[in-house]
Amino acid sequence: MCRDEHVIVVGGGNSAASLSTYLLVRITQTTNVEILYHAQVTELKGETVLSEVEISDMRDGSKRLIPTRRLFVCIGGVPNTEWAKDTAIVRDEAGYLVTGPDLLRQGRAPECWPLARTPFFLETSVPGSFAAGDVRHGSVKRVASAVGDGAMAVTFVHRYLEETGLNG
Ligand SMILES: Cc1cc2nc3c(=O)[nH]c(=O)nc-3n(C[C@H](O)[C@H](O)[C@H](O)COP(=O)(O)OP(=O)(O)OC[C@H]3O[C@@H](n4cnc5c(N)ncnc54)[C@H](O)[C@@H]3O)c2cc1C
Repeated sequence: MCRDEHVIVVGGGNSAASLSTYLLVRITQTTNVEILYHAQVTELKGETVLSEVEISDMRDGSKRLIPTRRLFVCIGGVPNTEWAKDTAIVRDEAGYLVTGPDLLRQGRAPECWPLARTPFFLETSVPGSFAAGDVRHGSVKRVASAVGDGAMAVTFVHRYLEETGLNG
């Protein structure tokens, strides 16, 4: 879609955070990639499509207009968990769903937890409700771990159903 075009990527995600050093190295060694530090997108120009991006240098306020039709924003994400505020599901300060051992304080489940047992791994503070993948507090944020969480959650769902007598 963007072949032979000038592309702007805002933010660096993992590579900027040095989690993926191999990407960082590749980017700095690629001659047709220019890295603008201390840069902020301050204006987008265009009529029906993007035509120019204004970039301001945060150190001295100087501005630069870069012609482009392609701008990708890669500045991180926010978990889509607002719905959980109407439930007893505990979230961390960033909005991720807290599960299993992460719910325990001095070995005790939160006050809203109604059962004698502690929450299963991946189980939220609402019994029988599980979180898998990126949305889970403390998750690794990788495809393989999200898939693993999902597979593991199924096992605990069965255990929960057995416990409640609903299995089969
Ligand atoms: C730019 C980028 C590059 C990445 N590169 C890699 C990589 O190279 N290797 C790697 O292993 N991982 C990589 N990751 C991480 C990987 O994509 C995630 O860890 C993985 O997709 C998590 O899977 P998930 O199912 O938990 O969440 P997602 O893949 O985010 O799936 C969640 C789904 O739920 C949907 N949803 C959200 N809210 C609701 C709602 N209320 N109702 C219904 N549906 C809803 C969303 O639309 C989405 O489809 C990368 C991520 C990004 C952003």
